[in-house]
Amino acid sequence: MHYEESGKKLPVRQFDVVVAGAGTAGVVAAVAAARTGAKIALVEVKGYPGGVVVEGGTALHSFYNLWKGFPGVEKRQVVRGIAQEIVDRLAEREGTSGHAEMLKGYDYDSVCTAIDTELYKLVAFEMLEEAGVHIFMNTMLTGAVTDGSQIQAVTVESRSGREAFFAPAFVDCTGYGDLAAHAGAEFTEPNDYAVANSIGVGGVSMEKYHEFLTAHGTVTEYSEGRRSGKDGRIVRLSGHLMPSEFTAGAGAIGMAVVTTTVHDDYFMFIKLNFQMPTSPTNRDEATKAELELRRRQVKAVELFRKHVPGCEKAFIARTSPSLCIRRGRLITCDYDISLDDVLEGRHFDDDVMAYGFHDCAPSLQIKDGGTYGIPLASLRVTGIDNLLVAGMMITADHDAHMSTRNTVCCMGQGQAVGTAAALCAKLGCATRDLPYPQLRTALQRGGVYFEK
Ligand SMILES: Cc1cc2nc3c(=O)[nH]c(=O)nc-3n(C[C@H](O)[C@H](O)[C@H](O)COP(=O)(O)OP(=O)(O)OC[C@H]3O[C@@H](n4cnc5c(N)ncnc54)[C@H](O)[C@@H]3O)c2cc1C
Repeated sequence: MHYEESGKKLPVRQFDVVVAGAGTAGVVAAVAAARTGAKIALVEVKGYPGGVVVEGGTALHSFYNLWKGFPGVEKRQVVRGIAQEIVDRLAEREGTSGHAEMLKGYDYDSVCTAIDTELYKLVAFEMLEEAGVHIFMNTMLTGAVTDGSQIQAVTVESRSGREAFFAPAFVDCTGYGDLAAHAGAEFTEPNDYAVANSIGVGGVSMEKYHEFLTAHGTVTEYSEGRRSGKDGRIVRLSGHLMPSEFTAGAGAIGMAVVTTTVHDDYFMFIKLNFQMPTSPTNRDEATKAELELRRRQVKAVELFRKHVPGCEKAFIARTSPSLCIRRGRLITCDYDISLDDVLEGRHFDDDVMAYGFHDCAPSLQIKDGGTYGIPLASLRVTGIDNLLVAGMMITADHDAHMSTRNTVCCMGQGQAVGTAAALCAKLGCATRDLPYPQLRTALQRGGVYFEK
């Protein structure tokens, strides 16, 4: 059965670029676009910016190349620009560990950049405001008005009603690929990852947890950085946990016990995972997953309380407002980054950034601790003239995606698409006709690093 909605006249607003989604990539995209002087609309369904970077993760992977795993390889900061500015702003508020060198587990990542998730939201909000972005929080992007291969406008909905935002250029940073899907882009839904809802756990002692893991000889990841205003404190910790009752319990609820923190008595992220039977775009299955994950959160804290010294008074201090996805829709773009491109450290004629981290290191890692390039073509939506995407919705190959999906890569992609979309709007050209030298110059001015 269907109910036929009657047509409505919507209020119209005009912008140079509309960015959908103020998450990991979208914040950076909107700031980058606004800094060119363009008039930017940023549409976000939640009441704060940040997305999965403040809800799902452990640490920001990674600003650096994997130098520690390769004796003789030079230490290089690979992602800079606006992503680094966010970390600098967090540091001013004691909201980050800084780029703390990994002392154990450095064949995975050479640094641990841990964040205060709440301060990240504020810092991102302030940067958007300072850049002059027109920010629309609690506003959902609900549709696209298209004319052939061109998007004319998007429809958005909030408690202020339905509106249409017109613009010559659009950026989809919704993670789910909502704008691309509404605009008729090709996509698939691989459902190749578990969904998660991570918790912040209070009333715990990182030091006692460390002693416990050390006593069992099972510390696998360890890093010291800035915590509660003091340097040289534990900021990242992971290990195979004993006793077996804990390990079995953790396995049953999909709990990953790696944690980071920037505060005393707090684990910033403990992740609970759940493999859905369908793609997370299925509302009814997602509802079941939301409930299951909340049950798992309580069990996780019970396990810590019962088995881990220093955690007897553990409690849930933060949850994500809804489940976090690692992949929703995979949007078809003009180029698809392959695993070979990543592992061989391949660069392209239309590179918009360099990146040097793989989530499966040391099993899969970029050749010689180097970098590979993200080409603009991998962010350009096939069949649509004025839409760019950034974030978790690119890269078909699961193992290649295990690199491109990481936060710092998404942030770098955000700077690229924001800058490119604003240039397209200014020049009045389609994304495929944007002169690359102009984009490259603008990105270099914005502090983007391109070296192999
Ligand atoms: C559990 C988990 C743990 C992870 N751990 C790490 C880690 O330790 N380190 C790391 O580097 N990476 C990690 N990742 C990966 C990384 O966090 C994500 O891939 C990355 O943050 C995705 O960024 P994004 O910009 O694509 O999406 P998001 O950050 O999710 O941004 C999407 C934004 O769009 C908004 N939105 C969605 N639909 C609409 C709509 N229709 N209208 C308006 N707004 C909309 C959302 O509310 C959100 O704010 C993890 C991911 C998960 C899920």
